[in-house]
Amino acid sequence: MEMCRPPISEDNMETWSPSKDLGPIWILGNGPSLAKTPLDELIGQPSFAMNRIHLLYPKVEWRPTYYLCIDDVGHSDVYSDLKYHADLGYPCFFKASYANELEMRRIKRWPTNITYLSNCRLHLHDLKNTPEIPQSWHLPQLCGFGTGLSVMLQIAVMMGYDPLILLGCDLGFVDQESPDHPDPNHFTPNYGTTCDWPLSTRDATLIHAHKVAQHSCDQYGVTILNASLGGILEVHQRIDFQEALKCTKQ
Ligand SMILES: [Zn+2]
Repeated sequence: MEMCRPPISEDNMETWSPSKDLGPIWILGNGPSLAKTPLDELIGQPSFAMNRIHLLYPKVEWRPTYYLCIDDVGHSDVYSDLKYHADLGYPCFFKASYANELEMRRIKRWPTNITYLSNCRLHLHDLKNTPEIPQSWHLPQLCGFGTGLSVMLQIAVMMGYDPLILLGCDLGFVDQESPDHPDPNHFTPNYGTTCDWPLSTRDATLIHAHKVAQHSCDQYGVTILNASLGGILEVHQRIDFQEALKCTKQ
C-alpha cells in the first residue's frame, strides 16, 4: 500500500476524480478522548490532524502524516504554530488568508509542503451564521462548513483514502466559563476553545457537518468509521479502536 502521495494542489484539484486506492487513514479531532487514545499505535499509518494537535506532541512519539489549520483558532501565536508545523516537513494545509503573514515570517524557503486552501463562500462556520446550509460536499471545491475536520475528510477522499477512521471526535461541547478557566472541550485543559457563540450550540453544527460528510461519502462509496473512545457522535458506524487497529495493520 502506498502510504503517502503528494498532497493535492490547486492545479490537480481541478482534474481530480474519485479513486480509493490508498487504504485506511486516521482522521483526528481534538476532543477530550484523544488524551486517553494510545496514538503511538498509529505510527507508520497514514493520519491527518489539525489545529493545536502539537500540544499533545510532548506526550507521544506519533506525528501526523498530514496537518491542517483552516479554522480561526484565534489565539495570539497562531502563526508561530503554523510555522512550527511547516518546519516539521509534513504536508500542511492552511487557510489561504494565512499566507501573507506566514510567508513573511519564514527565514528560509520551506520545501513545497504547504498548500493554501480556499473554501466555498456559501457554507460558512455554523448553522446560524451561514448564507446557505449545505446538504452535501461539492468537490473538487472544498466545503468549509462547520469544522476543519470536514475539510480533512474531503482532502482524504480526494487523495484516495478509504476508509476514513475517526478518533477524538467526541462532540458534547459545553461552555467554557472564561478563557482563564480549564477548557473542557479538548484533550488538554490548556487548549483554549475560542468561539464567539455559545459552545453549547456547537454540537448541532458539528452533527450536521458529519451528516453531510456521511451522505457525501455514501455517494463516493467511501466508508467513515468512528473509533473515538466515547463521545456522543453517532452519525457514523462505530468501530472499537483496537479492532480498527487490527484491520489497518493487516
Ligand atoms: Zn460548501
